[in-house]
Amino acid sequence: MEELQNFRPTKAVIDLKAIQSNVSNLRKHLHSDVHIMAVIKANAYGHGDIRVAEVALKAGATMLAVATPEEALHVRQFIADAPILILGAVPVHFAPYAAKYNITLTVFSTEWLEQVAALAPQFEKPLLIHLKVDSGMGRIGVRTAEELHAVYEAAQLENVIVDGIFTHFATADEEQTTFYEHQLATFKKLVASLPKKPRIVHAANTAASLVKEHVQFDAVRFGISLYGLSPSPYVEEHLPYDLRPAFSLETELVHVKQLHKGDTVGYGATYEATEDEWIGTIPVGYADGVIRALANQEFLVQGMRAPIVGRICMDQIMIKLPKKMSVGERVVLIGKQGNDEITMQEWASRLNTIVYEIPCMLTPRIPRVYKA
Ligand SMILES: *Cc1c(COP(=O)(O)O)cnc(C)c1O
Repeated sequence: MEELQNFRPTKAVIDLKAIQSNVSNLRKHLHSDVHIMAVIKANAYGHGDIRVAEVALKAGATMLAVATPEEALHVRQFIADAPILILGAVPVHFAPYAAKYNITLTVFSTEWLEQVAALAPQFEKPLLIHLKVDSGMGRIGVRTAEELHAVYEAAQLENVIVDGIFTHFATADEEQTTFYEHQLATFKKLVASLPKKPRIVHAANTAASLVKEHVQFDAVRFGISLYGLSPSPYVEEHLPYDLRPAFSLETELVHVKQLHKGDTVGYGATYEATEDEWIGTIPVGYADGVIRALANQEFLVQGMRAPIVGRICMDQIMIKLPKKMSVGERVVLIGKQGNDEITMQEWASRLNTIVYEIPCMLTPRIPRVYKA
């Protein structure tokens, strides 16, 4: 339908060149035989899974990782060849689909494998699995050598191949390394205890791939920095190369008016003008993920900061303009304008959370448009 275009001016602009540069810089930073697994779970942290996957693969990634069967199947519809690993637990009845569509599964349970044993002889193609070791994250995975060996034995099935083994760090983004070292030692010991090393051993997330030297193994799982964001302020200060944020959020003024002393703005009439003020309205709100807790956040207009006034509404927000402006004036909620920039970290600090949450919370109502 021709009418299916974006009429509302609110949009997320994804800079694909930034993603390409983040991957090719990582490629140069890593040993040449280490695979880059681009982590594109949660619709590529809100950036758009397919477009990000295509660019990451072109720039040097050789594998993809997602969180759920649904995400894997979505990616497989568009990307025919690259291996896709599902990082989370999956139900037994997904195994035949995983085998059919060349989707690699994370496995850590003998019971799971015993149930899959009944299905495996009918698989169209061999099922690839990566064993998961819980070396201290306390999430999913085997915790002891005994458990690992039991799972490894149970995986010796027709049509099932133990292709990899991995673990996940809880503190790789922190300066303190004791817990990280402990996890690394535990993981190495467990891997070494296997009768045969699986093809791909991997442990590093973004933080470990960027700031820890000896943890590259055969592959690294590159998530947050693929998008140009630092996993933590500590990593931000120790980056081996500059990251380029890919995501900006922008809209336009749809109404501009002058208020006089005593006039109020928004639900609850919580904001009251103290003098003659120019107030602009932008068509974006908490239904887009610009949640009410962002009250007091500033946005950029003509390179100047304009604070939110009054409560954030479901679909609209009012901002105090530095001067009279025209309808149609561009407003940047995240990104650069003039000499200033509003980073996702600024939003995250205001919301007392981590930068990961920001692109994930911006809802599908915001169209993602791509800049090549
Ligand atoms: C999400 C996730 C990653 C990616 O982590 P980043 O910090 O974004 O690089 C890597 N491994 C696992 C198991 C994950 O769940």
